[in-house]
Amino acid sequence: MVTNNNVLIEINSLKKYFPVRSGIFLRVKKYVRAVDGVDLVIKRNETLALVGESGCGKTTIGRTILHLTEPTDGEVVFEGKNLTNASKEELMQLRKGMQIVFQNPYTSLHPRKLVKDIVGEPLKIHTNLSSVEILNKVKETLESVGLREEHMYRYPHEFSGGQRQRIAVARAIILKPKFIVLDEPTSALDVSVQARILNLLNELKEELSLTYLFITHDLAVVDYMADRVAVMYLGKIVELGKKDDIFSKPTHPYTRVLEAAIPIPDPFFKKEKILPKGEVPDPANPPKGCRFHTRCDYSIDKCEKVEPVLENIEGEHYVACHRWREIYK
Ligand code: SF4
Repeated sequence: MVTNNNVLIEINSLKKYFPVRSGIFLRVKKYVRAVDGVDLVIKRNETLALVGESGCGKTTIGRTILHLTEPTDGEVVFEGKNLTNASKEELMQLRKGMQIVFQNPYTSLHPRKLVKDIVGEPLKIHTNLSSVEILNKVKETLESVGLREEHMYRYPHEFSGGQRQRIAVARAIILKPKFIVLDEPTSALDVSVQARILNLLNELKEELSLTYLFITHDLAVVDYMADRVAVMYLGKIVELGKKDDIFSKPTHPYTRVLEAAIPIPDPFFKKEKILPKGEVPDPANPPKGCRFHTRCDYSIDKCEKVEPVLENIEGEHYVACHRWREIYK
């Protein structure tokens, strides 16, 4: 059970629609419903993995929580404070506690700034520390992510992908935040480097009592990192639960497709392949009823007409599917 004390972030009916313009007057013709009514709670000190195919809205949720992009509707509450109606000053204060590490360390670091300036920038914006104090903090923070003092005076292009992501992590933790959105933080890295960055993130989580929203399409990474998992499809959460429950009893037909795609490191083990039918529908014109019905092998008439809601099926396990009772055995 989630008590208010162990809730760090609460997301209520969150929506983010992007206008699609066309014609010579660039009139809005339709809206891409990237996030379409999401309710979610993120508990203190947990890693909540948000998974789904590219384009399902998971990155938009991360950015909307941090108010890097304004929500169309709904609210985000961080430590009891509603960000949606916070003033600019309040938002600035709250942002100190919420940071992000982007997917691509090759584009997320300013190419013409020294590492000391990149990592020290949040301190310059949010504190009154002197330049010497900032330099000391930068040195200390770089060491905590496995880099050295001499790295402060180099440019991003002088580092490998893994080292660049360490710099991005140093920038994210220098203000000692409580919450970090990790947006596919290892997907642009070599496999051997990925493991080291994941280990670093786990160590920092323990040391600094961090809470992560870990956005990824890779369930093998989820298995290694997550406490709980939220599965997203076309702007909606379709399954939510503890990692062990999601992995041992994936119930939503879409989660079962994702789970079946995890590679098994055993050449003699033949895993049942489950492939969804057809293409991902247009998020500007999602199917009526259950959004997955055009690709689902379990679909019945009701699925085309009635949208399923997230139902509690056991413990902390929730699924949005009309036929979960038949699938969950
Ligand atoms: Fe498939 Fe129907 Fe469940 Fe949607 S509600 S996932 S279409 S069975």
